[in-house]
Amino acid sequence: MAIERIVIVGGGTAGWMTAAALSKLRKGHDLAITLVESEMIGTVGVGEATIPPFIEFQQMLGVNEAEMLAAVQGSFKLGIQFVNWGKLGDSYIHPFGNYGYPMGGITFPHIWHHFQQQGDNRPIQVFNVETMAAYFGKFAKKKDLGRDDLPPVNYAYHINATAYAAFLRKFAEQRGVVRQEGKVNDVQLDPETGHVTSIKLESGQQISGDLFIDCSGFRGLLIEQALETGYEEWTHWLPCNRAVALPCNRDDGSPPPPFTRATAHSAGWQWQVPLQHRNGNGHVYCDSFMEADEATDILVRHMAGKPTADPNHLRFVTGRRKKFWNKNVIAIGLSAGFMEPLESTSIHLINTGINKLMALLSLDGITEAQANSFNRLTVKEYEKIRDFLILHYKATSRDDSEFWNYCRTMDVPDSLTEKIELFRINGQVFREEDELFTETSWAAVMMGQGIAMQGHNAMAATLDPEETRKELDEIEKSIRFMVQHMPGHGEYLARYCPAP
Ligand code: FAD
Repeated sequence: MAIERIVIVGGGTAGWMTAAALSKLRKGHDLAITLVESEMIGTVGVGEATIPPFIEFQQMLGVNEAEMLAAVQGSFKLGIQFVNWGKLGDSYIHPFGNYGYPMGGITFPHIWHHFQQQGDNRPIQVFNVETMAAYFGKFAKKKDLGRDDLPPVNYAYHINATAYAAFLRKFAEQRGVVRQEGKVNDVQLDPETGHVTSIKLESGQQISGDLFIDCSGFRGLLIEQALETGYEEWTHWLPCNRAVALPCNRDDGSPPPPFTRATAHSAGWQWQVPLQHRNGNGHVYCDSFMEADEATDILVRHMAGKPTADPNHLRFVTGRRKKFWNKNVIAIGLSAGFMEPLESTSIHLINTGINKLMALLSLDGITEAQANSFNRLTVKEYEKIRDFLILHYKATSRDDSEFWNYCRTMDVPDSLTEKIELFRINGQVFREEDELFTETSWAAVMMGQGIAMQGHNAMAATLDPEETRKELDEIEKSIRFMVQHMPGHGEYLARYCPAP
């Protein structure tokens, strides 16, 4: 059956990102797109930290970066600082860019480790521009620095989630998406095929469609409540199941740091996401080990300023939907699953869900092959990200609370055990099946949390020592030059994309 009517249920980040992307298809196609959302139900509205591929999404839409950032009080993000994870008092940055660059076909951590063994005591961080700029509170893009020979600066954004949804709503409506306010309280299925044929609103209005995108958040209104697709739970590996979110002002008027901060506490961790005029904060925790009042109290005591709203308490179950594309329903966003906001991967999964949908979609109709590919690829993405997140909990020597004792001693997936083992033996990280996180990401978290490389690729010793040392010096020098010539992050924002 041809697809002429697409219905998106939900107007959070997932719904409006999907609507904005699909609205581009209306050019040249006879396609009606309706988005239904309920102001009474509202959105989660706490997803405010992104990762670099999010920039490509804006480019695909064709939005102006500075205009978008001004509209969402956005700031730049060079990585994530993890505090108190490996042990209390520890801190490291997981940067977006790479450490150095490969030489003679050997990736940089091996070369660095080889030189360490020869007595070079420079930490690996001095070979990464994002880490050094983050430490100094600086930001600029490579093109701002006016020299082609410098390494790129990899970055993402911090965004106000509500403002971003509003920004995309305008974008999508201008391109013909019809927004319908109302609460869905019934879903009709075709008795023969089991496909969703229409949704019914509380007002009695019925909206029919050929393809339905479930962006209804944790409820999974279509994918779960109507189609009973099933959910694979991962709480034994990712035990946090609650969060309390609370924005605050920055009391001291300091500029926003160009990174997200994740500070581990006794039964979870706290995020700080700096926007231009406020910080987003939240405490993610496990209710088997901590009560909501204590979690809120810890959050407030560790915030950079005074709260500007009431605490927003959220519950979730880590895991994924058994199928993401089931019959004529595709789950995008929290309706598809949720792991942890620890590495800002949730909006990214919305982004990749949309990319796959756009690549697979045929307006001539739906086939099994499309759904199967979508599901298989999405499972892989979820599992690779899941292992990376579990690493943060497993790689710890913390023994100061029951929660950390549980995490330190829990069994982890074999795929992760193997990854840790390979890194420990000789620093090897294989980036498999297009997985999101790079060798630098894995190395940053493992080293940052106390998993040291005991050896390295033996080929590192075959590089010319003098030439290689010169290259290392050059990389360090270039990075020092870049950071020296970057403005402060606050200054950059004020010039480039000041929020009204
Ligand atoms: P929601 O925002 O919940 O939107 C659901 C929509 O469905 C709403 O419009 C609602 O009105 C509508 N709806 C529901 N039921 C009905 C109904 N019956 N009738 C009509 N409409 C209905 N992601 C990141 O990438 N980075 C982060 O830093 C990050 N931090 C997070 C922190 C926490 C604690 C949590 C829980 C999540 C975080 N996320 C983060 C995830 C991120 O918030 C979500 O991926 C993102 O907001 C998308 O949510 P959504 O649109 O799927 O759902």
